Amino acid sequence: MSTLQITGGTVLRPDMTAREADVLADRETGRIVEIGDTAAGEETLDASGCLVVPGLVNPHCHVAMTLLRGYADDKPLDAWLREDIWPVEAALEPGDIEAGTRLGAVELLKNGVTAIGDMYFEMPTVADVLGEAGLRARIGHGIVTVGKDDADARADFEEGLAVARDLDGAADGRIRTALMPHSLTTADADLVEEFVPRARDAGVPLHYHANETREEVEPIVEDHGVRPLEYADDLGMLEDGDFIAHGVHVDRTEIELLADRDVGVAHCPASNMKLASGIAPVQTMLDAGVTVGIGTDGAASNNDLDPFDELRDAAMVGKLGADDAAALAAPEVVRAATEGGAELLGFDAGRIEEGALADLAVVDFEKPHLTPAHDPVSHLAYAVRGSDVEHTVVGGEVVVRNRRVQTLDEAAVRREAEAHAEALIRRAEGN
Ligand SMILES: [Zn+2]
Repeated sequence: MSTLQITGGTVLRPDMTAREADVLADRETGRIVEIGDTAAGEETLDASGCLVVPGLVNPHCHVAMTLLRGYADDKPLDAWLREDIWPVEAALEPGDIEAGTRLGAVELLKNGVTAIGDMYFEMPTVADVLGEAGLRARIGHGIVTVGKDDADARADFEEGLAVARDLDGAADGRIRTALMPHSLTTADADLVEEFVPRARDAGVPLHYHANETREEVEPIVEDHGVRPLEYADDLGMLEDGDFIAHGVHVDRTEIELLADRDVGVAHCPASNMKLASGIAPVQTMLDAGVTVGIGTDGAASNNDLDPFDELRDAAMVGKLGADDAAALAAPEVVRAATEGGAELLGFDAGRIEEGALADLAVVDFEKPHLTPAHDPVSHLAYAVRGSDVEHTVVGGEVVVRNRRVQTLDEAAVRREAEAHAEALIRRAEGN
């Protein structure tokens, strides 16, 4: 057994208590084998002065959109997509997506993220980069059929299905897949009905944006006479293992439907606030038994990929939305950002216990803004920043040590991303 021992830290357990303990991980199985007074490991990671937490899980992202960070701000979703984002995305070349994904991977890992959900394009390239970076991910080709003729629309679905079939299990099983139609209004319903059963046959779940804005809900209600998630259910899009992004404008019936079908929600509070999409009724969802994870969405609508920012936003806006300071309490948001997200993605991670995947973040608590530490869970929800993460471990492999990414060359990644972003915008704007 090849082992990693994380020594001298305080460990956050699934019951949200924290105790001084070492953690021993088996690098062959990628799982935690012992917590407490462990045997010595072949490799050690010093966690003294640190809180060892489950790796943060970001279940909804478009990682390569790091290239569009700060390119277009301060517009509502529909105008932002049509006027700014889609025209630039039409000019994307595979090399851009590779560079943007590398940049996003560096940022995510340094912020303690160990697993992500990613919906984008050129997914074989994305899978290679995420595999090389050492992340765990559930990925899919974002299928958009609006503005496409029948042949192109079908080809997009075929690509989505091929990606879901072919890349599942890549990077020694760290990469899993899903069929990812962009949303209920941007992917053709007839093709959804045709391809969803084929995805089920291939054993892959579905992930899509749903009920993000009012503008997206109204046409579905008008055209079909049912709420969007009832419509999705009629199309066969709500089965155990599927997960949606946003769920901002959901009513009681839809929340019960999600709970009943065991379909989770990737809540993206920063993106929802920035695009003024609305406030998702997260406490109501949690009370109804819906699994909730916390996602960053793409960097263009956030504008960073820091899960601790997101955690805090989820707590703050959750209280505001519920008109209740007790809503989205610290342990609930910490659980959503770890175990909840892992459940959405279908990974046996998000909690530090024997047998679970050894996906961990080691947070340095010896900082002025984390002093005193009356309650580490409170700090995780309200005070910790991504830049406090000292080490990140995925499947027992150290991917960040002393804030240095071990799998990618950060300086080269930044240089490359900058060059690609500049050339992309020049191409898209035609000069
Ligand atoms: Zn999104």
